[in-house]
Amino acid sequence: MDAKSRIEEITKLLERYNYEYYVLDNPSVADAEYDRLMQELISLETQYPELKSPLSPSQRVGGMVQDEFKKITHKRNMLSLANAFNDEDLRDFDKKIRDVLGVDKVRYMAEMKIDGLGISLVYRRNLVYAATRGDGTIGEDVTSNVITIKSIPSHINEDEELEIRGEVFMPKKSLERLNKEKEKAGEPLFANARNAAAGSIRQLDSSIAASRGLDAYWYYFVNAKDFGIRYHSDALKKADELGFKTNPERRICNGIDEVIDYIAEYTEKRPSLAYDIDGIVIKVDDMDVYDKLGYTSKTPRWAIAYKFPPEEVVTKLTDIIYTVGRTGKITPNAVLEPVRVAGSLVQRATLHNEDFIKDKDLKISDYVVIRKAGDVIPEVVRVVKERRGNDVKEYKMIDVCPVCGEPLTRVDAMHYCTNPYCDAKRIEGIIHFSSRDAMDIEGLGEKVAEQFFNQGFIRSIKDIYDLSQYRDEIIALDGWKEKSIDNLLAAIEKSKENSLEKVLFGLGIKEVGEKMAKTLSRIYGNIDELGTATEEELLEIPDCGPVLTKSLVKWFSNEKNIQLINDLKERGVNFKYLGSTSKAANSYFSGKTVVLTGTLSTMGRKEATNLLEDVGAKVTGSVSKATDCVIAGSEAGSKLDKAQALGIQVLNEDEFLSLIK
Ligand code: NAD
Repeated sequence: MDAKSRIEEITKLLERYNYEYYVLDNPSVADAEYDRLMQELISLETQYPELKSPLSPSQRVGGMVQDEFKKITHKRNMLSLANAFNDEDLRDFDKKIRDVLGVDKVRYMAEMKIDGLGISLVYRRNLVYAATRGDGTIGEDVTSNVITIKSIPSHINEDEELEIRGEVFMPKKSLERLNKEKEKAGEPLFANARNAAAGSIRQLDSSIAASRGLDAYWYYFVNAKDFGIRYHSDALKKADELGFKTNPERRICNGIDEVIDYIAEYTEKRPSLAYDIDGIVIKVDDMDVYDKLGYTSKTPRWAIAYKFPPEEVVTKLTDIIYTVGRTGKITPNAVLEPVRVAGSLVQRATLHNEDFIKDKDLKISDYVVIRKAGDVIPEVVRVVKERRGNDVKEYKMIDVCPVCGEPLTRVDAMHYCTNPYCDAKRIEGIIHFSSRDAMDIEGLGEKVAEQFFNQGFIRSIKDIYDLSQYRDEIIALDGWKEKSIDNLLAAIEKSKENSLEKVLFGLGIKEVGEKMAKTLSRIYGNIDELGTATEEELLEIPDCGPVLTKSLVKWFSNEKNIQLINDLKERGVNFKYLGSTSKAANSYFSGKTVVLTGTLSTMGRKEATNLLEDVGAKVTGSVSKATDCVIAGSEAGSKLDKAQALGIQVLNEDEFLSLIK
C-alpha cells in the first residue's frame, strides 16, 4: 500500500477510535494500539510532509463536543500532551528544551498521569463553570456534575478570576464497588476507571455523578502569572492553599536523569496507588519560558507524557469458545483463568480467527501472556512455551455453527455460518436493528432481545412491530412492569417515524455502514428507488466500491428481503428520507467546504452540520485555503480570525439561516 493510502486508512481508523473513546466513552481498541497507529501516522507524515493535512488526527486534540451539553469556549485552548515511550524519547525532549533555552540542566516537575477526564474550573470567588476539554477550543459545561465531587471548593478566597485544570477520576475502590453493584443488577460492567469517570461526568443527571465516588486532583494553575507566580511548583502550592486538592506524589526533578529515576520508582509503586495511572507527566517548572518553548497545534512543547508500556500478565487458557455475529461471522474467544490486569479482571480475550490461533501456536491448557493497556480490550500476546505441560490439547477450528449446527464456510481468514435462519444471527440482527445508531429503540438491548427471541415474541425484525400483542404476557415475566413494557412499546412506535438512513442501516446489509446508509438515503430519497439502482449507477457514488455495490444489489434481489421491507411498510415503518435529497438540493452550500465556529443560538453544531451535509456541503473542523465559507456564531475564536486573515467568506447566523432554507 502506498503512503497516501496508508495515511488515509490510519486517519479513518483514528477518527473512529476518537469518536468511540471521547464521545461514547466506550473504546473498541487498546490504548497501545491507538498509540501505535498514531506513531505510524506521525512517522509517515514526517517522511512525506506534503501528505500532512491540517485536519490530521496528529494535529488535533481528539475530543468532541456533544450537543446535549451547553458549550463553553475555553479562555485558553486545552491541549493534549506529546508522548514519550522510553528513555530515549525523554532525553530527546530534554535536549530540545536545553537547546532552545541554552542551558545545561532543566528543572522539571514530574507528576502522576491519572487516567481520568481533564476538567477546567473557572472561579470568580464562586465557581463559574466546570468544562471538559472537548475539541480543545470548546468544551462541555459539566458544572452540575463536577460540583458533586466533595473535595472541589464551590468558592475560593480570591477576588481575581482564576482558572485551574486537573483530572477528575474514579479511585480503584469506587470502581470496584460500582462494578459489584452493576454485576448484581446484571448490567454491563465499566471496563476501566477512565471510562467510568468520563461516563459519570458526561451525562445529564447529576445525581448519578454524585453517587459514583469520584475525586479530582488539580495540576495546572492556568493564570498563575496574574497572581505573581513564576514557577509551576509554587503555583501548585498556592492552589493547595486555596483549597484545591493537588497530588502529593509530585516531585521536582533537577535534570532528566532524576525524571527517569522517578519514573522507575513509580513503575514499581503503581499497583499500590489508590487510582489508576497510565503514565507520568513531565513539565518544565519555570512557566516564564513556556511561550519561548511554544506550542504545536495539539500540544505544548514544555511538557510531555511518559506512557507506561502495556501491562502484561500470564494466565492459563482453559478453553476456546465461539460467538456468532449478525453476519454469521464466527469469532473464537479465549476462556482464561481470571486474572487482574491493568486495573480490571480479565476472563475472556478475542482470538480473532483460526489463523491468529495457528500463528500463535495456541493449545488449550497453555499459559499465555495477556496484555491490556489500562483499558478495555485484552489481547493474547504469545504463548509461554516454557510452561507448556503434557496435558495441552491441540486446537482445531470448528466446522459447524455452535448455535444451529449448520456447516461453516471460510471467506478469507473468517468462518461464517451459512444458515440464514441461525438463531444467533437472528438475535444479533434484532439487536442491531434496534441499536442507537439504527432504529434507536430504547429498551430493546441485548438481554431483552434474547429473552423475547427465546420466548417466541420476536423471532424476526418485523415481529418487533407486533410486540404489543404480548403485552400482558410480558408483564407477567420477571423484571417486567406495566411501565417498562409501555415505555418499550412507545419507543417501538416512535421508531416508525425514523428517516430512511436509520432503517437502512438497521437492516444490516453487508458493507452498508451508518455513513453509507446516510449517503444512499440522501441520494435516492426512498427505499424503492434505491432497490432498483444498478451496479453502474451505484459505482458512481463516492466511497461506493465494487464490494459494497455487489452486496447491495444482491440484497435487493433476494425475495425474502423485499418481503421484509413490505412487512415493515405494512406495519407503518417509514422508508423515506426525511432530509432534503441531493437531487432537490440546489442549495447555496451544495459542494462547498464549510467550517462552523462559535455558538449558534438556534441550533447545536451537530444539527447545523446535518443541515449542511443534507444539502451536499462538506463540513470540516479547521479553516484552510480550501475552505469556501465560515459560519460564525457568537464567541467565535481563532477560526474566525484565520478566515478573515485568509480572506474567506464569513456568514453570521442569520445569513446562514436564510441561505440554508
Ligand atoms: P493523553 O491522555 O495522552 O494526555 C493528555 C491528558 O492527560 C490531559 O488532557 C489531562 O487530562 C491528562 N493528565 C493527567 N494527569 C495530568 C497531569 N498531571 N498534568 C497534565 N495533564 C494530565 O492525551 P489525550 O489527547 O487525552 O488522549 C490521547 C490518548 O488517549 C492516546 O494516547 C490513547 O492512549 C488514548 N486514546 C485511546 C483511544 C482508544 O480507542 N483506545 C482513542 C483515543 C484516545
